[in-house]
Amino acid sequence: MHLTVLGCYAATPRTLTNPTSQVLEINNHVILIDCGEGTQVELRRHKIKFSRINHIFISHLHGDHFFGLPGFISTMRLLGRDKELHVYGPKGIKGAITLLLKLGDSWTNYPLLFHELTSKETELIFEDDKISVSTIPLDHRVYTNGYLFKEKLGKRKLNVAAVEKYGIDKAYYNNIKNGRDITLDNGSIVPNKELTYDPPKPKSYAFCSDTIYDESLADKVKEVDVLYHESTFLDSEAHLAAKTKHATAKQAAQVAKDANVKTLVLGHYSTRYKSIELFKEEASTVFPNVLLADDGKTFDF
Ligand SMILES: [Zn+2]
Repeated sequence: MHLTVLGCYAATPRTLTNPTSQVLEINNHVILIDCGEGTQVELRRHKIKFSRINHIFISHLHGDHFFGLPGFISTMRLLGRDKELHVYGPKGIKGAITLLLKLGDSWTNYPLLFHELTSKETELIFEDDKISVSTIPLDHRVYTNGYLFKEKLGKRKLNVAAVEKYGIDKAYYNNIKNGRDITLDNGSIVPNKELTYDPPKPKSYAFCSDTIYDESLADKVKEVDVLYHESTFLDSEAHLAAKTKHATAKQAAQVAKDANVKTLVLGHYSTRYKSIELFKEEASTVFPNVLLADDGKTFDF
């Protein structure tokens, strides 16, 4: 999995910081998660082709998480897109976007498909042979979902030395990777486990922004490889976090600890703080493996 953070600050775009937007490359999918203002500029800066994005997941309809979406959708039209674009987000997103397109008489010339969400329970919203995506209901000031992206188990890996030893024709390689045993010309059977290695363990990424600290969240993101959890505030402003339905770095770390995740990535920082290192220091007192998202930063997991 490869994560590019296009923006990870709260509230408003500023000279040096962007609101939330990130690109997750997972099992050949290029997925846009949230689309704050500045998303298009950052995509270009990172040389991520717009046309590779077929699925966009929007957490909620606060402006700092989706005001970049109408522009992105319009640009796709100008770039001559012809394939489907799927947008997942809270009920109302379709009306908001289509009104803007209608007023500007700028309907897309490609299929734009909205998948509006209303459930407060976890639901599977996308699945193919490569990945699955489920919602993670969050508790924020408006209806909000995080998203859990999971790789599917891949094919078995060919043990080249073993297949060559048995003189197996390349025509059978695909069957072998699919787990089949092989019958040799002399009638003996070679079990698949002699010809292959286990595929890599599928990875998972949970995106959780924005949300108040919620103890029950740990169950929903249990043992994921990477948890991105918002940390708008530090513990010294815990009262503001509670009031605005956001979380602190310490609370994010508590969720990571309770869920026994491998890595915690923090983001959605309030710009009131001089240094984001303070978030890492605070979270590290609760959970050991903390990384800081920052605009332009990339991660390989
Ligand atoms: Zn919000």
